[in-house]
Amino acid sequence: MSRNKSEQLFENAKELFPGGVNSPVRAFKSVDGAPLFIKKGDGCRIWDEDDNEFIDFCCSWGPLILGHNNSAVRTKIEEVLQNGTSFGAPTVLENELGKLIIDNNPFIDKIRFVSSGTEAVMSGIRLARGYTGRDKVVKFEGCYHGHVDSMLVKAGSGLVTFGTSSSAGVPESFSQETIVLPLNDEEAVKNCIAEHGKDIACIIIEPIPANNGLLLQEKSFLKFLRSICTAHDILLFFDEVISGFRVAFAGAAEYYGIQPDIMTYGKIIGGGLPVGAYAASNKIMGHVSPLGDVYQAGTLSGNPVAMAAGIAQIKACLADGFYEDQEERTKYFTGTINDYAKSNDYPFELVSIGSIFWLTFGEHDAIRKADQIDPATMVDFKTIHSLLLDNGVYIGPSGYEVGFVSKAHTMDDLKQAASIFCAVLDQVYKP
Ligand SMILES: *Cc1c(COP(=O)(O)O)cnc(C)c1O
Repeated sequence: MSRNKSEQLFENAKELFPGGVNSPVRAFKSVDGAPLFIKKGDGCRIWDEDDNEFIDFCCSWGPLILGHNNSAVRTKIEEVLQNGTSFGAPTVLENELGKLIIDNNPFIDKIRFVSSGTEAVMSGIRLARGYTGRDKVVKFEGCYHGHVDSMLVKAGSGLVTFGTSSSAGVPESFSQETIVLPLNDEEAVKNCIAEHGKDIACIIIEPIPANNGLLLQEKSFLKFLRSICTAHDILLFFDEVISGFRVAFAGAAEYYGIQPDIMTYGKIIGGGLPVGAYAASNKIMGHVSPLGDVYQAGTLSGNPVAMAAGIAQIKACLADGFYEDQEERTKYFTGTINDYAKSNDYPFELVSIGSIFWLTFGEHDAIRKADQIDPATMVDFKTIHSLLLDNGVYIGPSGYEVGFVSKAHTMDDLKQAASIFCAVLDQVYKP
């Protein structure tokens, strides 16, 4: 498999962009080789500039739940594109996407469209602070909420876990307003609230943490968060940028049956174009400008072309049995590989929920916290990633990232990909 063109393009890109990329994980830093430059996608397949073909499980990191170049999405974009691309004035398309979402999501009354997941979280946190009049925010180690200053924070040492910034350029005084706790740990939350409850605006969590491995939480923990937040007038903030429209139409809130106070969406909501959103009850959203005093705006917010892509994709997700079918095909895929690994005593297992899966290595119980991931296992990930690429299967270039099955992955595609996976496991683990 030649990768000459991608390698040359990456050299060119390094002259233009820091590290040759416009988002860091694309740089293949934790795996071997140069990143592949992709020129085309169709269904579950992508092609790189050297004309190599891959079955794709990255799916643009989640947005493409219908796969690449979906005809309904493409047709709707083309139709809207005839009339121009942006007006900075309201369009009927915003109403259409907003109504589609609100009519099918019992957890929200109003929504505000922005242009990325990061922007959605940033705005949602400002809203939580504006609404409660409190400054502190609790987040969990192992949850990613975009590159917002207040969320680029890791657990500090010591008992009182005020955060320390995990990126240069975030003042310590900012990160002092963020408290970082371990996931799935009720005691830690109780202690934190006992000490700081009156200052906490919100507790933000990825209800299905999927940015640092797939750290599935016990439902009882999520329910506990709901009740302790209610008891202390703290807002429960579900960041559903990955899980929204992915595990169920109304995301993890629907999957677990838990009512959060603020929710954020991104990825799938834009059908492959840049859209994010935050949403809540009328009471909370009434604080957003121009109704209320929490300011938030965007030149390209609700962009008609992006709304069009979102409408077409979201409509398809509303089809009867859509999520059951996604989960069934994913289970077939992970089950085939897991059975094979188990019967051969290979130290490998795919963990999954809905149509999200994650590669895990070695003997372990359920992994629910960031510090339960053994960094030493990333050596195996690197080998497997490289062999999968050589054999025509594309997964995200980091062992801390999850994979996605789309509507376009047919049973035949999944059968083919699973058999490649099993052959790769043989190459790595067969004695
Ligand atoms: C991807 C992601 C974000 C950031 O979204 P961007 O569109 O990349 O800014 C925030 N939160 C979660 C849970 C995400 O998965």
